[in-house]
Amino acid sequence: EKQSIDEIKQKIKENNVEMIRLEYTDILGVNRGKLMPVSMVDEIFGDGIAFCTVSLAMAFNNDIVSSEYFSETNDDMKVIGDPSTFVILPHCDKTALVLGELYYMEEPMLQAPREFLKKMVQEYHKLGLDPIAASELEFYIYNKMEDGTLEPYSKQPCTCYTANRRIDPKRFLYKLTNTFQTMGFNVLYMNHEYFPGQFEYNWKHSKIVRAADESSLFKALSKDIAETNNLMMTFMGKPKNASGGSGCHFHISFNDIKTADNICHDVTKENDLADILRYFIGGVIKHAKGLTPFLAPTVNCYKRYQPDSFAPIYIGWGYDNRTTYIRVPQERGKATRMEIRAGSAAANSYLALGAILAAGLDGIKNKIEPPEVVTTDLYHDVKKQQDKVPNSLFAALKALDEDSWLTEHVGKELVDVFTSLKRKEIEEYKKYVTDWEWDTYSYHI
Ligand code: GLU
Ligand code: MG
Ligand code: MG
Repeated sequence: EKQSIDEIKQKIKENNVEMIRLEYTDILGVNRGKLMPVSMVDEIFGDGIAFCTVSLAMAFNNDIVSSEYFSETNDDMKVIGDPSTFVILPHCDKTALVLGELYYMEEPMLQAPREFLKKMVQEYHKLGLDPIAASELEFYIYNKMEDGTLEPYSKQPCTCYTANRRIDPKRFLYKLTNTFQTMGFNVLYMNHEYFPGQFEYNWKHSKIVRAADESSLFKALSKDIAETNNLMMTFMGKPKNASGGSGCHFHISFNDIKTADNICHDVTKENDLADILRYFIGGVIKHAKGLTPFLAPTVNCYKRYQPDSFAPIYIGWGYDNRTTYIRVPQERGKATRMEIRAGSAAANSYLALGAILAAGLDGIKNKIEPPEVVTTDLYHDVKKQQDKVPNSLFAALKALDEDSWLTEHVGKELVDVFTSLKRKEIEEYKKYVTDWEWDTYSYHI
């Protein structure tokens, strides 16, 4: 929603806002920002605020890699508020939040996840297409116990779609839904997922940058809201041995940029699926392996890809088939769309959606036909099993390395810094001895 600076100032006044948080999502998907008094509003939307470039690419263990990729001297970038994202935070007293656009030497920073997604959208606009997306985000909530341990927020036998009051003992889900509804998010619904403590949020579709903003902000803000309620929330790919994985399925369609109509429906084609969406699927399938590091960016995410887990193991597509990498849901007309099921909840929403657009662009531009539709259970139909989703972050990064279309279209600058961060993460992980190794080997060997 477009808002002028004057409208923003009016909102600040009417709501007695005293502080503004200027934020952006870094390469790992973590929000960074500065808290400023509202007297800074003209700077925020004018020349912008200086931030050290280092902050865009810090490892989870605090290692800094950015100097190798941005600037040797770790100098500043400019962050300028995007007025369309200004929102008052219902859970933070007198505080508003605005997302920033990142510039380095007057140019948009193409290593910045949100700038990258916007660049990909421009490529589609040139073709007269407006990408539309909705995410389904799964996550776990835990009670923080007095002895420091964590217990699932909902207990056995709660399972998929359990709808009684016991799934929300502290009215936390109610609070979350209410907060994001008040912020004007396109929240559609929330439900209990399969495992104790596991939940899912679904959004209505919106323009793809807005969809990424909402799912990225949801992760950042809801973790905070959980902490203030003595709860812990995580979007890890697979948080515990006894729990299944958390996915982030992305639903994607295209509107005609002029008429704003969904153009994925075509009654003259097989299953009423327009060429544009079929070619897009062809592109995503062709680049599925190289895409994986953006959809499953941590070593932990690969533990989610298990047989019968509803997360894909084999690459393929099907009509309303939940055993495949891509599912085309049954709805047609304005709701004609495809769903990518490989995404992990841990994915950076901007990078994942941007990389998906980059893959699909090959399909659309080069009219790539997807392989034959899978109508069986792909976990068990050996005859239909062709390519596999890479089974580790290491293998996925190798696939990205070998995919010249993706590397070029995601952009060398971003791929270099992203893969370097991820390779360092793998090195750390390789040194670490897990409980499983001790439990399995120590007695016998
Ligand atoms: N939890 C599953 C995953 O990791 C998805 C379950 C579902 O279909 O909603 O992708
Ligand atoms: Mg689900
Ligand atoms: Mg789904």
